[in-house]
Amino acid sequence: MDLGIKGKTALVTASSKGIGKAVADGLAAEGCRVAICARGKDELMATAAELKRKYNTDAFWCVCDLNKAKDIENVIEGVQKSFGPIEILINNCGGPAPGFFLDLNEDDWSFAYDQVLMSAIRTTKLVIPSMLKNEWGRVINITSVAVKQPVENLLLSNTFRAGLTGFSKSLSNEVSKYNITINNVAPGYTLTHRLYELAVTRARISGKSHEEMLAEMAKLIPANRLGMPEEIAAAVLFFSSKQASYITGQTLLVDGGNYKGIM
Ligand code: NAD
Repeated sequence: MDLGIKGKTALVTASSKGIGKAVADGLAAEGCRVAICARGKDELMATAAELKRKYNTDAFWCVCDLNKAKDIENVIEGVQKSFGPIEILINNCGGPAPGFFLDLNEDDWSFAYDQVLMSAIRTTKLVIPSMLKNEWGRVINITSVAVKQPVENLLLSNTFRAGLTGFSKSLSNEVSKYNITINNVAPGYTLTHRLYELAVTRARISGKSHEEMLAEMAKLIPANRLGMPEEIAAAVLFFSSKQASYITGQTLLVDGGNYKGIM
């Protein structure tokens, strides 16, 4: 299917590996001009080189700590200078630290607030004006199954992703009449570095191995396996497409059936 986004400028944040990288790859495959950012220069350069090799495209890349407002401003300015206005924005971030309530201190809460909620709000605020001017845009936030079903030991994620979902719905009410859609893709357990780290933490608590923890996670999922980053990217690509023009303010779970509710 032609998604109708060839030649559009897309920024994917936190995209040197995992889900963000899979999304950048999918957008490049669709012929978008792709911009990527993360904190590590070497991994970013490797990802850009991979996109060049696979799709003969020159991705814009920029080192950025999404917890820092100034870094976000730099990225947006850099993309706009190189590629013009951002038409598709994918707000992804590093996963917040695990922890039960009494493990978490003030600094943990402030850090996760900047990391999960404010990073997406800051990028969106800088990108929406040109989307309004051009009367077209797609904003997709990567959240988590936690917005429907809180995940044990992930209080920071459970809290701030719910906030981001509220923000998305509110913003969609304001901008949808300008052909700008705002949606969320909520992954379940997906095989990336983030999940590996989570399995290691849980292994430490339970005294089991991280391989056992990953197998236990898979067993809880009706699909009986962990998700792959490309499967999350597929949903993001659909929300980015011209075909998804009348879908806004929504969250789509991509979790192999992990969420156990009916709606
Ligand atoms: P990952 O650890 O594989 O990749 C995270 C990416 O974020 C990397 O490119 C890393 O360099 C970048 N990053 C981290 N902190 C950053 C910062 N401060 N500034 C800029 N870049 C930063 O993670 P993933 O599994 O791809 O997860 C992506 C998002 O999806 C996370 O927010 C995660 O919590 C969420 N999520 C993941 C899963 C899962 O099972 N993997 C499930 C639900 C939600």
